[in-house]
Amino acid sequence: MGLCADCLHARRVESQRGSTFCLCGRSADDPTYSRYPPLPVLRCSGYVPRQRIVSLLASGTEIACALGGGDALVGRSHECDNPEWVRELPCCTSPTFDITLSSGEIDREVRRRLKAGEPLYDVDLALVNELRPGLLITQTQCAVCAVTPDDVARAAGSVVVDQVVALSAGSLAGIHEGVRSVGRALGRPEAAKLLIADMERELDWIANRVRDRFAPRVVLLEWTDPLFSTGNWGPELVAAAGGRSLLSEAGQYSAAVSWGQVVEADPDYLVVAPCGFGLERTRREASVLEALPGWSETRAVRLGHVALADGNRYFNRSGTTIPETVRILAEILHPDCFEPTWRGRAWCAYRTQA
Ligand code: SF4
Repeated sequence: MGLCADCLHARRVESQRGSTFCLCGRSADDPTYSRYPPLPVLRCSGYVPRQRIVSLLASGTEIACALGGGDALVGRSHECDNPEWVRELPCCTSPTFDITLSSGEIDREVRRRLKAGEPLYDVDLALVNELRPGLLITQTQCAVCAVTPDDVARAAGSVVVDQVVALSAGSLAGIHEGVRSVGRALGRPEAAKLLIADMERELDWIANRVRDRFAPRVVLLEWTDPLFSTGNWGPELVAAAGGRSLLSEAGQYSAAVSWGQVVEADPDYLVVAPCGFGLERTRREASVLEALPGWSETRAVRLGHVALADGNRYFNRSGTTIPETVRILAEILHPDCFEPTWRGRAWCAYRTQA
């Protein structure tokens, strides 16, 4: 395609016979440009290089796409899965160990690697450089959950990039700041403002519906072996959904808790949403929970108030799915007030598994 391959004005179109053409956007209001220029175009005064983004963070990818920067994405991490089409982009990272292990085995391997200074992720810098990004999105909030700038620095070779945006959300305000950071990097600050306003409006709508209702006490878990209660933005989401979070503080890192602490806290609801696990994988954690002493006697289990959820997409990701997460929590905590729109897709009740 020559210059059209990465021109801001180009749109790739495919004929029914499978041939690829370039539709030149400039042709719409300037007749000197052909609608379908003969390829390859080697010289063109209208050529404007498109921004090229490699996002090594699932939430960064979501945010970039929500702000209208999806066309500029040229590479992603192995965790980037939303919107669905980004899976077709070249994948620049992979975990360095088997993530299909049990949650206990994963925890032990992560701790061993962190102690030994071994990476949790491989970054294919040759591929990143081949993709020629002007903007690289990564994160500094958690050394375990996703690729950090250190992982990039540790990879063999060096990355050539104009700008690195490292998100570090630890709260709702931090998530909004991440949206603003990506918006600035994309040159779309107004789109960032609108996206934040949309997210806030959705949370306000839910908060208004639950305002005068009894706020059940909730333990939200982000790992099962060992148990970790969800910190960061988790308690704020529980509060927005009309609950009261136990064993964690808003804006603080997620922390290990003992089963004894959970039993003593005696929550009305237990929501299990492990980091990196989708709903199917979370369902398999039920056996880990059932092995805990006195599991069946806890209030949440007796009341049928244990929910298993997609932690990967909705609970441990600081991106655009936050309003859906609050809606999911509201469905769990106030089933008489919200239709179970996300039940079966993003969460299920323990035992009924539906
Ligand atoms: S402006 Fe030039 S380089 Fe860009 S799409 Fe049109 S013909 Fe191709």
